[in-house]
Amino acid sequence: MRGVAILGSTGSIGRTALDVLRRQRDHFRVVALTAGRNRDALAAQAAEWRPGFVGLAQPGLNGGWPTGPDVLVEAATRPDADIVVNAVVGAAGLEATLAALHAGKRVALANKETLVMAGDLVRQAACAGGGEIVPVDSEHSAVLQCVTGRDSGMDRLILTCSGGPFREWPAARVLQATVEEALRHPTWSMGQKITVDSATLANKALELIEAHHLFRLPYDALEVVIHPQSIVHAFVEFCDGSVIAQLGFPSMELPILYALTHPGRLPDAGVRRFDPVAAGPLTFEPPRSDVFRALGAGIAAGRAGGTAPAVFNAANEVAVAAFLDRAIPFGRISDVIDAVLAAHAPAPATSLEVVQEADRWARVRAREHVRSSW
Ligand code: NAD
Ligand code: MG
Repeated sequence: MRGVAILGSTGSIGRTALDVLRRQRDHFRVVALTAGRNRDALAAQAAEWRPGFVGLAQPGLNGGWPTGPDVLVEAATRPDADIVVNAVVGAAGLEATLAALHAGKRVALANKETLVMAGDLVRQAACAGGGEIVPVDSEHSAVLQCVTGRDSGMDRLILTCSGGPFREWPAARVLQATVEEALRHPTWSMGQKITVDSATLANKALELIEAHHLFRLPYDALEVVIHPQSIVHAFVEFCDGSVIAQLGFPSMELPILYALTHPGRLPDAGVRRFDPVAAGPLTFEPPRSDVFRALGAGIAAGRAGGTAPAVFNAANEVAVAAFLDRAIPFGRISDVIDAVLAAHAPAPATSLEVVQEADRWARVRAREHVRSSW
């Protein structure tokens, strides 16, 4: 019986994780649940799972539980938690990931922003505390599944990308896309922030940076291909030219389960079995980097390294929130990112304070750019 703490249990990944755990009660028990501000949903989950710890990150929303941002670290470091599922969205998940790794936990990481902001610090925390990161992101789970049990020799990764709702739209139309249009993802049902990231392709830039840290590959060995059906999740090319891919219908249940069981597997009757005929023709095409500029901007930030990825992430978070608030049009998201990155001189990301300062700086600059576009 392994204890599982879920950070962000009321979100899309958090709820899916609980769906998976409901079928695996013989192997795992839920020991902690935390949410951002959705007190009612958290109360319902707490009643079902009766974990030892329940916390709400938003201060003042007292449901009889501890509140405030510290609840994430508290949940992530509990002695009865063997695995921490970090399903928080955005920079808010960073400290809990570091704390869990320092405390020797397995972190099943959906919160990719953590690795983007501070990949080196995360790796150091894992080394220092004996913890390990296992990705939940479907592409990275695919890579891990392709290489596990093999004598690495991994030369190149190709991450697939659905292309989002605007894959085939004329460039001028994409600039004016509405919030409703951006939230209509063709293949995945996810939280709002990552759904917008999937429409700008910023998500794929975040994922390349994530892959760089997880699999220790240089950016020249990381590629993106558009695959609208979202059936192949990643390709791994080995040094002899052989390519292994992982396939499945788009659902986060399998990557979440695998992050809990890696390197082993457990049967799960709830996962839809694969059917190549039903999957239909599989197609691949290059990304339209000229239209979806956030992809190139993010990769450039990754290559620059140091504090640049944290700045990219923070500018993107602010721009996406402004777009969702209808304060800027869709096309301005990548303008805000570009402007903030252009003003930033990357420094080595030597400590959590340095990263957090870069994050704060970028948010201030991004908000200025958002205001100036009103
Ligand atoms: P979501 O918005 O549906 O859920 C986010 C969760 O985090 C909620 O429980 C919310 O209450 C909590 N939260 C938000 N802000 C918080 C804060 N400041 N402090 C503490 N808790 C906070 O998001 P999601 O789609 O579940 O995505 C979560 C993470 O997983 C993101 O990093 C995303 O990129 C990644 N991810 C999601 C999917 C997916 O299918 N949804 C796939 C791959 C990766
Ligand atoms: Mg992904």
